[in-house]
Amino acid sequence: MPLRSDWSSATCPIARSADVLADPWVLLILRELFSGRTRFDQLREATGAADSVLSRRLTAMSEADLVTREDPHDHRSGYRLTDAGRETLPILHAFARFARITDPAGPWGLTVSCGRCGGIAESVDWCTTCAAPLDADSTRWSRHSMGDTPFALLDGTGA
Ligand SMILES: [Zn+2]
Repeated sequence: MPLRSDWSSATCPIARSADVLADPWVLLILRELFSGRTRFDQLREATGAADSVLSRRLTAMSEADLVTREDPHDHRSGYRLTDAGRETLPILHAFARFARITDPAGPWGLTVSCGRCGGIAESVDWCTTCAAPLDADSTRWSRHSMGDTPFALLDGTGA
């Protein structure tokens, strides 16, 4: 279910990815799923999306294989990122980095750091201090709205 124009069959890979990813709500939902918020009510509260907006995006994200139910047999269960969904992490980091570049004065509500060495990320997908990959397993975020303490992604403590 495309949210806007249907670019799902475009030959350009950027256009094909934009078909599902170029939507602000989708990006905010991804941010919250990486932050460990998995339930519909948590996602609604954290993003500020109306029920219908959130429901439509989660359906589109599920059809695009970005998310799946934590329990496929329970329609009330939360959502988790698929492998493809986890691959969107550098995209979110690029958005955060772009904000830092274009608005150096901040404010900085989200900081990306390396889980191995603690270095603040200067790249979207690898640590410029120790060269570790900045994937979902090895990246730490700190968010002002969540107390500014660095946390592991996808750990389910973002309630
Ligand atoms: Zn590092």
